[in-house]
Amino acid sequence: MNKVLVVGAGAAGILVALTAAENGAAVSLFEKNDIVGKKMGITGKGRCNLTNICSMSDFIVHTPGHGKFLFSAYERFTNKDLLDKLHKWGLETKEERGGRVFPQSDSAVEVRKLFYYRLRHMGVEIHLNESVESVRTLNEKMIVTTSKGSYEGTACVVTTGGMSYPVTGSTGDGYRFAQSLGHTIMDLKPALIPFTAQENWVHELSGLSLRNVEISIWKQGKKEAIQFGEMLFTHFGVSGPAVLMLSSAILRKKRCTYPLQMQINLKPALTKDVLDGRIQRDFQKYIRKQVENGMKDLLPQRLIPVVLDQAGVDGHLPVNQISKVQRQNIVDTMQALKLTLTGTRPLAEAIVTAGGISIKEINPKTMESKLVPHLYFAGEVIDIDAYTGGYNLQAAFSTGYVAGISAAGGEQSR
Ligand SMILES: Cc1cc2nc3c(=O)[nH]c(=O)nc-3n(C[C@H](O)[C@H](O)[C@H](O)COP(=O)(O)OP(=O)(O)OC[C@H]3O[C@@H](n4cnc5c(N)ncnc54)[C@H](O)[C@@H]3O)c2cc1C
Repeated sequence: MNKVLVVGAGAAGILVALTAAENGAAVSLFEKNDIVGKKMGITGKGRCNLTNICSMSDFIVHTPGHGKFLFSAYERFTNKDLLDKLHKWGLETKEERGGRVFPQSDSAVEVRKLFYYRLRHMGVEIHLNESVESVRTLNEKMIVTTSKGSYEGTACVVTTGGMSYPVTGSTGDGYRFAQSLGHTIMDLKPALIPFTAQENWVHELSGLSLRNVEISIWKQGKKEAIQFGEMLFTHFGVSGPAVLMLSSAILRKKRCTYPLQMQINLKPALTKDVLDGRIQRDFQKYIRKQVENGMKDLLPQRLIPVVLDQAGVDGHLPVNQISKVQRQNIVDTMQALKLTLTGTRPLAEAIVTAGGISIKEINPKTMESKLVPHLYFAGEVIDIDAYTGGYNLQAAFSTGYVAGISAAGGEQSR
């Protein structure tokens, strides 16, 4: 019987272990935490955006970090395959904006617990609180040494995740194991990371989120990237889904030097003329008020002084004293509110780590190392990274599934 040793019980490791067990292997799963799937438990703001309902070719488009490497894995284990499994096990799911799929209960912890139950049901030997210290080969076997002992297997799958959110256990150990066996580690960088900003007003707006805005990033008058969606002001700068997506595009550029300028179009659906007409109507409605109180139907209250300041308009002026030029300055500012980006938060705060074990050294059809027979990789430890929307978890599940079958010695008819 094949004996599969799985290092790390995140999304990828769990799928490896379940799939290998379903295909007849004896499986030992090592996890340094006292629970499995600790990071999974905080995904999607605690709701776990499991996957997306888009086509698998769109998954590749939404994976700027080597999406094509995932082609075979996505053929063998699709979003539908994942959802079929989860539904069969009793998890109800729902679809939201942008095709994102969440558990019906909105509880990532429910998903984590369901996986734990399935691992136990399949007879996987789960070693919690057991940190793996090294992975090596000996006479065609794989040897895993942990804080508690040494284990021998016919195959070993490294699924230790990336370097972000180290409190969840992903501290980069897998890179060290892979490197000690001759693998190349591509530059580790944050992907999907908030930006820091210079202006105090940005920090003061902390907690304010904006929906349906268009955000662009500029360098020396040239537009570098643009994104539509939701953003959030924080005590250090800007975050939220659209900002995270922009970070992925910006950090991928060869030369990315700060400062960069960010422009926020607060009313992207309106032309300048339509917006001007809208402002004129509101000014008519609030004709006896000061201008800062005459824009409350158009903008969140906290944002009004910022817009007026950038437009060079005194917020205390009576609405009926605003000139056409001043009104046009307000329109222009509402469609290009400017702030200065000074950098990103550190890698530890990234949603995903870009870089990792070189895809050139892994067989995409099996996830086996091209350098070391019987050694496999799955999940974020590999040099792949995707946008937000459920694409990263699906990548971990699909690569985990393929590695699980291969490490078990192939598919068994059940
Ligand atoms: C805040 C946040 C929210 C996110 N939300 C989403 C979302 O909603 N949808 C989505 O698709 N993606 C989301 N992601 C990304 C997604 O969580 C990851 O891409 C995914 O978890 C990667 O799975 P993995 O199994 O490769 O790694 P991980 O989930 O990081 O698992 C690796 C496991 O290996 C263990 N480990 C590491 N080293 C050792 C060792 N030496 N010995 C034993 N065990 C070890 C770790 O403790 C950990 O449990 C989010 C990420 C973050 C940080």
